[in-house]
Amino acid sequence: MKASVQHLFDDQLATWETIRNSYDALTQVKEKALDVNGYIYKVQFNPARIVSSAAKVDDKSIRERKCFLCPNNLRSEQKRIAFNGHYSILVNPFPVFPRHYTVAEQKHTKQSILSRFSDMLDLAKGLDDCVIFYNGPKCGASAPDHAHFQAGNKGFLPIEKDWRNLRTKEIATCGKAALWVSDDSPYVALLIESTDDADAIELVHRICDALEIQSDDDNDEPMMNVLTWYDEDSWKICIFPRAKHRPSCYFAEGNGNMLISPASVDLGGVFIIPRENDFNNITAADMATILKEVCMSPSDLRKLVQQIKERL
Ligand SMILES: [Zn+2]
Repeated sequence: MKASVQHLFDDQLATWETIRNSYDALTQVKEKALDVNGYIYKVQFNPARIVSSAAKVDDKSIRERKCFLCPNNLRSEQKRIAFNGHYSILVNPFPVFPRHYTVAEQKHTKQSILSRFSDMLDLAKGLDDCVIFYNGPKCGASAPDHAHFQAGNKGFLPIEKDWRNLRTKEIATCGKAALWVSDDSPYVALLIESTDDADAIELVHRICDALEIQSDDDNDEPMMNVLTWYDEDSWKICIFPRAKHRPSCYFAEGNGNMLISPASVDLGGVFIIPRENDFNNITAADMATILKEVCMSPSDLRKLVQQIKERL
């Protein structure tokens, strides 16, 4: 699968000018690095990502637009590779990573993780040169009505290296899956390492049960971003429970306004900023504030950990 996906990428760039220009433009984007409480985050000025950062994801706007992930609405140049019988792997036309894919369910059905988590692990193992990520319907997915994952080449997100330093406390095991917690800002997250996919899935279900209890929304899944990758015979999974969708700076008027809408990539250590002024002005303190606002608080995470332990 890895070879055919690489071939898809090369072929699309060779034959579709628009997408080739998007990936060429990515090599020219401005980047800087900021130290947020001892962790180095990259900041990428990426004007094309305004489609995602400023996406209107309220029910009315979603109903009134054509779904851009439905096969019938894809550009005629967009080619796809089938995965697990009911997904299509596509080259992402608005890249953040030098190689960036969208993996979309073939039929139009809402974004949700739990029943698809095994697909996410399959994808991570099949594309072990990529990090696979999931943005919840209220946590950065610009198509909350159409189930999808994204994949980006390894070697780009700081969390791939940082996660070993984050595993401060092992709190539980579930078969061959071990669960750690990082309850220190800027990384407030649950981390799993597992050599067995069924054990990892079981553990994620217990985590989601515990998150449901803490969530005040009965209709939707708990708010979260999830990243996973496969190396050295095991899956690494980072779950970021969320407190809210967009930070206060997104809605602020005047000088305090910054168009930043964090999702998996930002939480994984690369802030994507579509406006140049925001890119120039943002400080490490701003980033710490944004992360504090959108991620679950350390005290809520500690309560969550108690709930998870009771379920194992
Ligand atoms: Zn759709």
